[in-house]
Amino acid sequence: MERIYFDHGATTKTDETVAKAVIEMMLENYGNPSSIHSFGRNARKVIEGAREKVAALINALPAEIYFTSGGTEADNLAIKGIALANQKKGHHIITSAVEHHAILHTCEYLEKKGFTVTYLPVDKYGLVDPETLRQAINNKTILVSIMMANNEVGTIQPIKELAAIAKEAGAYFHTDAVQAVGNIGVDVKELGVDALSLSGHKFYGPKGIGALYIRKGVKISPIQHGGGHERKLRAGTENVPGIVGLGVAAEVAQRDIPVKVERLLQLRQKLITSILKNIDHVQLNGHPEKRLPGNVNLSFEFVEGESLLLNLDLKGIAASSGSACTSGSLDPSHVLLAMGLSHETAHGSLRLTLGRANTEQEVDYFLEVIPIIINRLRAMSPLYGCSNQSIRRSEVCENCHGDNE
Ligand code: PLP
Repeated sequence: MERIYFDHGATTKTDETVAKAVIEMMLENYGNPSSIHSFGRNARKVIEGAREKVAALINALPAEIYFTSGGTEADNLAIKGIALANQKKGHHIITSAVEHHAILHTCEYLEKKGFTVTYLPVDKYGLVDPETLRQAINNKTILVSIMMANNEVGTIQPIKELAAIAKEAGAYFHTDAVQAVGNIGVDVKELGVDALSLSGHKFYGPKGIGALYIRKGVKISPIQHGGGHERKLRAGTENVPGIVGLGVAAEVAQRDIPVKVERLLQLRQKLITSILKNIDHVQLNGHPEKRLPGNVNLSFEFVEGESLLLNLDLKGIAASSGSACTSGSLDPSHVLLAMGLSHETAHGSLRLTLGRANTEQEVDYFLEVIPIIINRLRAMSPLYGCSNQSIRRSEVCENCHGDNE
């Protein structure tokens, strides 16, 4: 069996037509788009062509698209840029507890600079209740930023409803749609959002390129200073190969989304149904339906996520878990904790994110090996025996000496 890639939420393989366009730009069309000679004019032309394609993917105007170095920069520009430009109105920002760190750490930074941030809680599925936003928002709120689809559990938020509440209160609404754009249909006009972040490498585009959609008329300041690039909002010579690659990826995505979504939904359902049926002590994390088509997130009790990943890797399967190894310590996912999971359950989580090239055969192979790995890991777990129904309550488990009763 070939190696299997179930980690498309982390990044995707660059589409071949994207890669070809990037190489062509590097080798043939290498002018600086700010130069007035033909090399420069040619580069400018392809940038504007890519802007149109990215705009078309999310139903924006080309003039509402600003290229950035990726999702993280788009998030930073949206949050800091809107905060800086609207300080006279107020210093209050609202976000959610399950955002990506590109949002959370930016908000924490702004708190140190005198802004007040409200972190909305989520329910057990990872959903923000619009009522909590209605209660938190006030006339000093300048910005609400709620992600469209969660990167860990795939939960899709009721963005249209949330954006309408922000609008009613006179606050701007930004959504981090890095996991959504290119993978499900996204229409900024239909959603009614003022700003939206997207990233190329999450939908078969190059890494290090993304964009921020900013509705015409939104007050925003630059956060990086230099030349007058990107209509004075994002200084720095444009990443022309990346931008062109993003444009091609947007075009491919727009064409493929309907078919891709249908296929991934089927594979996802097969995985979820089979695992829940055949393995005990396992739960699905995230909403059963309101989730990204390729996302499966499960918690296996009595299993350590990292060990699970290593064992899957030995079988050639690439996945990810709900714990991030930061500076040597294993922190359970803030997303899973915010959804009410215990530290233990969060530690036993596994995220599979399927992509367009995954096949049913790969899913079947995964379903064959996963019970074997889980059984092996549980056999090594000192706690598993205690919960196993084969041990009667009157018997004392030699691992916990009855402490687990
Ligand atoms: N926001 C979300 C929801 C993400 O999943 C990611 C990447 O994992 C980012 C932002 C950051 O995007 P980038 O890797 O392009 O900086």
